[in-house]
Amino acid sequence: MTLETPLEQLDYVPRPRLRPLERLGLRTVSDLLQHFPHRYEDRSHFDRMPVDTMDHPVCVCGMVKKTTLRRVRGVQKKFDVLVEEENAGAFGGRILCRWFNSHWVEKMIVQGHRLVAYGRVKRSGTHVVMTHPEFEVVEDDAEESVHLRRIVPIHSATEGITPRMLRWVMWQVLEHLCDDEVEQLVPPKLDATNRAWALRQMHFPESFASRDKARRHLVMEEFLAMQLAVGMKRREHRSERGEPHAGPGEWMRRLHESLPFPLTGAQQRAIAEVRADLASTHPMNRLLHGDVGSGKTLVAMSAMLICAEAGFQAALMAPTQILAEQHYLNFRRWLDPLGIRVALRTGNRREETGAMPLFEQSPGSSEPHILIGTHALLYEGAGFTRLGLAVVDEQHKFGVMQRARLRAQGTAPDVLVMTATPIPRTLTMTYYGDLDVSTLDEMPAGRGKIITGVRPPAKLPDAAKFIREQLEAGRQAYIVYPLIDETEKQEAKAAAAEIEKWSQLLAPMKCELLHGRVPPEEKDAIMGRFRKGETKVLVATTVIEVGVDVPNATVMLIENAERFGLAQLHQLRGRIGRGQHKSYCVLITSDEEPETMDKLRILEQTTDGFAIADADLQLRGPGDMLGTAQSGLAPLRLGDLLKDTDLMKLARNHAFLIFEHDPEMRRPEHVGCRVLLASVRERVHAQVS
Ligand code: ADP
Ligand code: MG
Repeated sequence: MTLETPLEQLDYVPRPRLRPLERLGLRTVSDLLQHFPHRYEDRSHFDRMPVDTMDHPVCVCGMVKKTTLRRVRGVQKKFDVLVEEENAGAFGGRILCRWFNSHWVEKMIVQGHRLVAYGRVKRSGTHVVMTHPEFEVVEDDAEESVHLRRIVPIHSATEGITPRMLRWVMWQVLEHLCDDEVEQLVPPKLDATNRAWALRQMHFPESFASRDKARRHLVMEEFLAMQLAVGMKRREHRSERGEPHAGPGEWMRRLHESLPFPLTGAQQRAIAEVRADLASTHPMNRLLHGDVGSGKTLVAMSAMLICAEAGFQAALMAPTQILAEQHYLNFRRWLDPLGIRVALRTGNRREETGAMPLFEQSPGSSEPHILIGTHALLYEGAGFTRLGLAVVDEQHKFGVMQRARLRAQGTAPDVLVMTATPIPRTLTMTYYGDLDVSTLDEMPAGRGKIITGVRPPAKLPDAAKFIREQLEAGRQAYIVYPLIDETEKQEAKAAAAEIEKWSQLLAPMKCELLHGRVPPEEKDAIMGRFRKGETKVLVATTVIEVGVDVPNATVMLIENAERFGLAQLHQLRGRIGRGQHKSYCVLITSDEEPETMDKLRILEQTTDGFAIADADLQLRGPGDMLGTAQSGLAPLRLGDLLKDTDLMKLARNHAFLIFEHDPEMRRPEHVGCRVLLASVRERVHAQVS
């Protein structure tokens, strides 16, 4: 038997279990061995039978004294199993395991069985009850060494195969496996333990300490495979050829001189990094991330000038029309005086600067230097003449497909993706690992503080009073409400109710409504009036989430704040605190669940986008922050991006060294790495197809 042997060739794997195993994706010995337990039960020391409610799950073992099956309210069937602790003398405790409508359980458990049960217990009258526990009937003593008297693995199972059966198959396979068949993949430099040992200990540990050691080996293996895949992708990008798109930098210098403020150090660094990419002959693939308000637009604008000065077009793509138009206005404000032609291209509007050929490249040409539009620019083939640089705003999931589409429009343009979602370092090392990253980790000076408070709806009148004071002091405000219902009619109703409510609460201050279904010209007019300060309050859905920039707006009230994700709330809040005045964010929620409060309290405690992104990653897990399929990397089976950062760093450094010194992995000590890379690529392939 080798690791590649199909499970169906092993006659001790019961035939009826083959299908369920396959459903778990387990076809070969190797697949099976990499199906790791999701938890363990220490059945060498069971917990004592609890006598009261416990706040953590317990694992107990005992004899079934009695079973009773009752009908409750005529419909539900309640199955109670009284389990009594063995060998504990007069102190032996008992608990009641309880199932509702579980026909198969009723058939499995009878008086006299020995039962292992795992779950939470709650006191109910004179009994301590464990409802719908995970359980196993311990049948005969021959299998005790597998299922009892040891630390027992619990593997996730599926219909047709119980964790107990899976454990038994796993045990058999490991019994028949010869250690020599298990190739060492992780270099001893990274982990001194042996792979076969690690696999055995992971499934049937002698102690939790050795399980932890085994886990380290296997996580290292997984991370190294991931980093090799990332390294390979980087290498592939690097080997692409493109044209340099960099002019001498005179246009940019003039822009910087015309600014009323100095660039931050972080902006200068980012611009230098982008500039080097533009000047090189391989296409730029760079991610620019920085908190809301950190000044990404200026970095983009500088890059676009460097590109345009070299005679190429530069395009900026925003996710929404409002944003595209705002960028357009901003660009014109800074670039018109320099005579640089900017054009707007959205579904509804095409507009360009009049001819101001101060810096004419080819005399007589009226092609815009800079195009601004929505992401649709990509799909409509916006008639780029010589696209040199594509900047994609607020779109960190800008994927391979889109990049290919851009390429198809001509020569390979340089691509700069900007996102205001600060990305935790663990992710820039992994799922974004094939991109170069520039980080704006410094805020422009002179920003007012933002104070955030979570309040119940009962405090709305107080909040309204506070907002009024701010308005009277000359400031402006945003009121944000979530879309409750997606249907057009409901939406219109909700919007009408909101604007009515706030106009009354804040009368005679002028409030206006902005949501996704307002027609574009009207949106424009509304934003224009708010920007000029004619409108004091903007009542809006999340259409204002990204990029909107009105420094005089210092208050934001968010209704039903619990409906938004942490990152999204941070984005929304980034609309205030943009001027020198102190700003205030009020999060209204009626939800008192501890998870909600924990989430919202994070916003009370910090305005640091990186801290919030880390917290968000902890709360939601990485899968949610980005489609893993999209990333082109296999999902992790064992490693934890947050807890195992140190291992990830080690793996990453090692992978880098390999690509530097032995990219083909020909040296004998790198054979294991070659195998790892091949296997991870195969998994990604299987996932995509
Ligand atoms: P974001 O990173 O959220 O896209 P923006 O690029 O919209 O941020 O910049 C936010 C605001 O900060 C804009 O009004 C911009 O003009 C201003 N700004 C940018 N850089 C600086 C700087 N170095 N000093 C002061 N203000 C700046
Ligand atoms: Mg922006």
